[in-house]
Amino acid sequence: MALRILVVEDEPEMANLLARGLRGEGYAVDLADNGIDGIGLASEEPYDIAVLDVMLPGMSGFELCRRLRAQSGGMAILLLTARDAVDDRVRGLDSGADDYLTKPFEFAELAARLRALRRRDSIGASRLEIGGLQIDMTRHEIVAGGKELRLSRTEFDLLRLLAENATRIMPRAEIIDSIWGAASYIDPNIVDQYVSYVRRKLDTVGSPVRIVTARGVGFQLIAAHE
Ligand code: CA
Repeated sequence: MALRILVVEDEPEMANLLARGLRGEGYAVDLADNGIDGIGLASEEPYDIAVLDVMLPGMSGFELCRRLRAQSGGMAILLLTARDAVDDRVRGLDSGADDYLTKPFEFAELAARLRALRRRDSIGASRLEIGGLQIDMTRHEIVAGGKELRLSRTEFDLLRLLAENATRIMPRAEIIDSIWGAASYIDPNIVDQYVSYVRRKLDTVGSPVRIVTARGVGFQLIAAHE
C-alpha cells in the first residue's frame, strides 16, 4: 500500500510541484493550503508523513507541526523553511519536526530525506531492552523506569539507535548517516540538539539509562548508576 503524505503549502505552484513529484515517487498525496485544513485532513486520515511549509497564512507551519505532533505521535514531519536561519531550525525542531529543508531545494533532496525517514521504520528487531529501558519498535513505544516516554519520531529513532549500539560510542557522523541519510547536508549540531531533548525527557521519568557525551567524538547510552 502506498504511504500517505500530507502536504501543507499555500503557494499553488509549489504545492502542485510537490504533489506531482511525490506521486511520481509512489506516495499517495493530499494537499491543504492552510493549517486548519491540514489538521482537519489529519484527523480523518492516518498519514505516514507530513511535509509542512513554515510560511503559511494564519497558523504558521511551526504551530501546525506542534498540533499535528500532539494529535499523532508516530507521524514523520518534515518542515520547509523559508531561509537558512538558525532560529527557524531550532524553532522547527522544538515544535517536534523530524527534519527540515531550506527553500529553495532540489526535489531529489526532498525525496532522499523522505526515503531516509522511511528507512528508519524497516530495520532492526521488534523489541529491545537495555538497563530498564524497553523499546517496542513496531508500536513506537518506549518505557523507561516503568513510565512511558512520549518522543517525537526523530527522538525515538535517536534513542533506539543509541540503545542498539550501547556497547560503544556512536560518532556524530554515524548518527547523522543512519537517521538523516548519508547524502543530506546536515549540521552536526542537530545531533546535540536532539540529544538534549531526549535527555530532558529521560530526566522527567527518572530514567534508568542516560546519554553521556564523549567529547569531540559522539554519544553513548549507559545505565544511570554507572
Ligand atoms: Ca508559503
